[in-house]
Amino acid sequence: DLSKLERVEEFIYEIPADYRDDMNVPARIVADRSLLEQIKDDLSLEQLINVTTLPGIAFWALGMPDIHQGYGFPVGGVAATKLPDGVISPGGIGFDINCGVRLLRTGIVHRDVRDKIEPLVHELSRSVPSGYGRSGRLTLANAQMVEGVLEGGVPYLVERIGVGEPDDVEFIESGGRIDGANIAFVSEKAKQRGRDQLGTLGGGNHFLEVQVIDELFDEAAAEAMGLVPGELTVLIHTGSRGLGHQVCTDYLREFGRVMAEHDIELPDRQLACAPMSSEAGKRYFGAMCAAANFAFCNRQVLTHRVRQVIARELGEAVDAKVEVVYDVAHNIAKVEEFDGDEYCVHRKGATRAFGPSMPDVPTAYRDIGQPVFIPGSMGTSSFVLVGTDEAAAASLNSTCHGAGRQMSRTAAKKRIGGKELRKELASRGIVVRCPSNAELAEEAPLAYKDVDRVVDVVSQAGIANKVARLRPVGVLKG
Ligand code: 5GP
Ligand code: MN
Ligand code: MN
Repeated sequence: DLSKLERVEEFIYEIPADYRDDMNVPARIVADRSLLEQIKDDLSLEQLINVTTLPGIAFWALGMPDIHQGYGFPVGGVAATKLPDGVISPGGIGFDINCGVRLLRTGIVHRDVRDKIEPLVHELSRSVPSGYGRSGRLTLANAQMVEGVLEGGVPYLVERIGVGEPDDVEFIESGGRIDGANIAFVSEKAKQRGRDQLGTLGGGNHFLEVQVIDELFDEAAAEAMGLVPGELTVLIHTGSRGLGHQVCTDYLREFGRVMAEHDIELPDRQLACAPMSSEAGKRYFGAMCAAANFAFCNRQVLTHRVRQVIARELGEAVDAKVEVVYDVAHNIAKVEEFDGDEYCVHRKGATRAFGPSMPDVPTAYRDIGQPVFIPGSMGTSSFVLVGTDEAAAASLNSTCHGAGRQMSRTAAKKRIGGKELRKELASRGIVVRCPSNAELAEEAPLAYKDVDRVVDVVSQAGIANKVARLRPVGVLKG
């Protein structure tokens, strides 16, 4: 019921904590009226209110403009619980642990390779396995590699296996390696599921997209990121595949029992959680960090493949230099500080958006802030933004992670057929590769909210600043 939302700032709406007896803090949404209208038919607002009942939750449960219904927690939500005893909840992170996006710049001018985009996308599709069950070609062949990837993250892949360049590491959130990962807490089944999935896209919403830089909004920030209008970028969206999914499944099952032991009662069992200080909470955190490292490594292997394919397909024609702009997680919980206290910050379908003054911002971005990527859809723009210092408190250092789905997969398929969509995109100069027409239709641009509107709300609310707009020319769908 949207009428309970009070406007507390121009783009922030709130359900006060006294709205329901079990709320510990208010629920807040960054949005405008038209975006709010779009959530009235799903359960996301009720889910956000449920999140405010978590033991130890601080500030408010925060919804982003791309908020929509998810498992227990809404997608597009942020929740910070105060340590040491605040809880960690797998549903607040999501099944695809460290699903995230990585942007590569190429230095290639689109005009010079216009007729080579189709073969490029074709070769990328041959080199990058996609689809739900598909496996990659870099196998976690032995115990050493499992430990290396899950605990050592991208630095291990670069230094020991030679996948990618040493410079890549600095341009990944947390240097591509989250401290606190512990493979002992990852089940054999999870490891088995991830064994041959490094370097794979996975199904559905995941993608690898070749784009043109269309417009700049902040020249200085764009320059720091090496973004030049007319040049090609590649945006990679994938996560921890079956490994992360299994970690989430394992601990959701266990936490039901743990909650009873700690006398935790919640309005929705999908919010299953455990105190961060508990033995089970610590084990999940260790496993979750390991899955996050696997996801960073997955995007690293894909980066390596993109470099190989670009060198092979375009190498003769252009002087390409494929470099990582940034890699940011949008399904993760991290320990972060506010005013000297530590919190477990859950971001599910939400992006960390550190301003220039925060730690972990690469030296090259010290003056501009951490890059943030907001993909739209295969037929619309995607955006590059940067985090701000001003909004740190209001946004819990976060911003949104996409346009957000506005139509179910089934509804999308009813509205448009895959063949028709493929044709329409082709007529606009966008090449797509997707395992099936049905899966393509589920991901149709009309299934997503208006990304321009979402990005405008984010920037007007001041929680991130626009830097550049990217337009798709070739899309590989999972
Ligand atoms: P999620 O992580 O929630 O699955 O998706 C993140 C966002 O990616 C979605 O909200 C949607 O706006 C965007 N998206 C989905 N498919 C595509 C695509 O093929 N290309 C681009 N650029 N964005 C997409
Ligand atoms: Mn994902
Ligand atoms: Mn994602």
